[in-house]
Amino acid sequence: MDFSITEEQELLFENLAELVKRGWNETEYNDLYYNRHELPQGFIDQLIEAGFTMLGVPEEYGGTPVDYQTLVMFAVELARLTGASLPVASNAISIDDIISFGNPEQQKFILEYVAKHGTPPFALGFSEPQAGSDSSGILTTATRNGGKVYINGHKSMVTDADISPYLLVITRDLEGETPMKSMSMWLVPNDAPGVKLEALHKIGLKTGRFFEVYLENVELEESALIGVEGNGFMQLMKNFEIERLMLVATGVGMAEAAFEEVARYANLREQFGKPIGFFQIVQEKLTDMKIKIENMKTLLYKTAWKKDNGISIQIDSALAKRYCAIASFEVLDDALQLMGGIGYTEESRISRMWLDVRHLRIAGGTDEIMVHIGGRQLLKQFRYH
Ligand SMILES: Cc1cc2nc3c(=O)[nH]c(=O)nc-3n(C[C@H](O)[C@H](O)[C@H](O)COP(=O)(O)OP(=O)(O)OC[C@H]3O[C@@H](n4cnc5c(N)ncnc54)[C@H](O)[C@@H]3O)c2cc1C
Repeated sequence: MDFSITEEQELLFENLAELVKRGWNETEYNDLYYNRHELPQGFIDQLIEAGFTMLGVPEEYGGTPVDYQTLVMFAVELARLTGASLPVASNAISIDDIISFGNPEQQKFILEYVAKHGTPPFALGFSEPQAGSDSSGILTTATRNGGKVYINGHKSMVTDADISPYLLVITRDLEGETPMKSMSMWLVPNDAPGVKLEALHKIGLKTGRFFEVYLENVELEESALIGVEGNGFMQLMKNFEIERLMLVATGVGMAEAAFEEVARYANLREQFGKPIGFFQIVQEKLTDMKIKIENMKTLLYKTAWKKDNGISIQIDSALAKRYCAIASFEVLDDALQLMGGIGYTEESRISRMWLDVRHLRIAGGTDEIMVHIGGRQLLKQFRYH
């Protein structure tokens, strides 16, 4: 296992750093985040231009293929350099379900959209009010009548449902054999009659909102089905382990950004006639933050390396998701503490990252569900036969 940076990766990260230096505007981002709740599309356009938003997408689909390790490192680096959670580093993973299972028309549309806008054209409608951690409780249905398909149900917490032209809706055949083998995946236009969105306002990740989505007799053509009917859950889960890594990679990058900022601050900020970095209790915080950052990166990169080498990451991805979600928030919390009162303002970059990183302990599977996944498998390895 070798995590030293290859020449290609070095070039990739140098180009990214150059682009961030040229195109990233912290003041503008703060305004978008707190006041306008919009993505920094100008900066995303620059990432598109430089080819970063198609990283990991196979060459035959117009992308730049890289291994998972590079993709995860890229997500860490983008968050470290910008201090922001931008939904562009995981495009290759988010659209893979449709590239793998969609028909040629769906593939063409998705790829063209990502190439132009830098983000996928759909929001994921999976969770429901009664089905969060327990996806088997999904109740949204797809029924047929007169050659058409009708979707009925209620999806919860659908991120960016307003700005995505489509919703990737998971339905369930309530009469099916088992819930997991009875789910299907549909591409639903978010402006179709019968689709109603109701915004919820998140406490962090404020460049977008998430929505309660009500689906009432939404009429679709058969061609809106993605992949095989009844196989929607398996299709969605194809990349879930690596998606979890990509999700927490942003937290690791933000933790590193916060560490760098606060370590500089500890050298400058004077109290009791000395820089606060002089006090051992401050040094202890910085030391523990650094240990957590190194641990997170090791766990993350090792898991990605295993995936690249065809080794199962079923347990590792749950451990990495849980550890990185918790540790990145702890690092951010210590960073905020070291900034004192100024850290607790909307003008501080660290408070913004603190708000963002907290969601990692819930989204993509909660801390507790990572125990549910990893813990049982760990026990199984040490069972007497
Ligand atoms: C920022 C953000 C973005 C999101 N975006 C989307 C999206 O785009 N699309 C989408 O479909 N969903 C989205 N979600 C929803 C997300 O997937 C769910 O919030 C998550 O799966 C948890 O479900 P829940 O909120 O219903 O909590 P619940 O499942 O009700 O859990 C409540 C508490 O009980 C605990 N718990 C539940 N079961 C167990 C168990 N077996 N053992 C121990 N503890 C347990 C949980 O860990 C948690 O602490 C998003 C969530 C967030 C925070």
